Amino acid sequence: MTRAAVVYEHGGPVEVVDVTLGALGPHDVRVLIAASGVCHSDVAAQSGALAFPTPIILGHEGAGTVAEVGAEVTEVVPGDRVALSAIISCGRCRPCVEGTPNLCEWGLPIIFSCRQPDGGLRATDRTGRDIYQFASLGTLAEEVIVPDIATVKIPDDVSFEAAALVGCGVLTGVGAVLNRARVEAGDTVAVIGCGGVGLNVVQAAAMVGAASIIAVDREDAKLRLARQLGATDAVDARSADVVAAVRHLTGGRGVDTAFECVGRGALVRQAWEAVTISGTVVAIGVAAGDDVVVLPAQELSTSEKTLMSCLYGSSRPRLDMARYLQLYRQGKLRLDELVTRRYPLDDVARAVADLHAARNARGVVVMG
Ligand SMILES: [Zn+2]
Ligand SMILES: [Zn+2]
Repeated sequence: MTRAAVVYEHGGPVEVVDVTLGALGPHDVRVLIAASGVCHSDVAAQSGALAFPTPIILGHEGAGTVAEVGAEVTEVVPGDRVALSAIISCGRCRPCVEGTPNLCEWGLPIIFSCRQPDGGLRATDRTGRDIYQFASLGTLAEEVIVPDIATVKIPDDVSFEAAALVGCGVLTGVGAVLNRARVEAGDTVAVIGCGGVGLNVVQAAAMVGAASIIAVDREDAKLRLARQLGATDAVDARSADVVAAVRHLTGGRGVDTAFECVGRGALVRQAWEAVTISGTVVAIGVAAGDDVVVLPAQELSTSEKTLMSCLYGSSRPRLDMARYLQLYRQGKLRLDELVTRRYPLDDVARAVADLHAARNARGVVVMG
């Protein structure tokens, strides 16, 4: 018996409930979770904006220690410290061989089904009801069974908290800059929404030498943190006309690349208006299923702007997690600063409420 943060129906509360894990399949790994970030996608799954099945264990940004492995697992052994990847890939399908395992034709349907790769579920509650796991993970739990390919070994000197953050917010934000937009030294950048993902966009843009990094948010604390992580300018979206402010800060031209990290169609439009005539908009935030992006159609022939979607930072999780943790160990990527608050699992509902209220860059649930 273990405990997990479960949502029974869309719009319902997050409850900490007793959960029994099933028997290990040949490619399963049982992990004792040490730390799990709380991400906007968890909240979206709770509300139903992200139409994942219920009941579901939330959490997809976690790290911990391997407790037990299935008969055919070769990658990890009990005692290994691991971070978990919210994307799994087969290595054989066309996107995989093209170097975009984040788009794996085998893995994506599995993680969206919130089942394990064999189609089964591995957790039940006290009444015997089967429970899904967010992205086949469900890291907001003391213990989970996950697919072996979702585990990535981490160095001994990296904390579980830092490793957990890499699993979603860091891969998504840093990857959007390095893999997707490929921001270059001297570029100008705007970041709309400076939470757990946007702050990683800011620091990655600083790392590659962007000349101007304009942070946009509605919270003073996040704008301050963005400046600490390398933003050159801060725009308070509560009081300023964001597009006018970005244009003013770039001599009227707009930025080369604008990142939308909130997940609202209207803000993608705002990003579109804030880039240069040849600029790029990278849409990162997870929007509601019924939200739409409206763009001025005429501009498609009177400009050469690019609108890019971006899934999980266009990451190659196994490669990029290791690279980002190495940059963290060298002090080039800052992860400890991203953790605003720590919560015990029993306070997970408060962690979710704080996320709703935009109080945290990242709230992390630390298991007892
Ligand atoms: Zn996430
Ligand atoms: Zn694949």
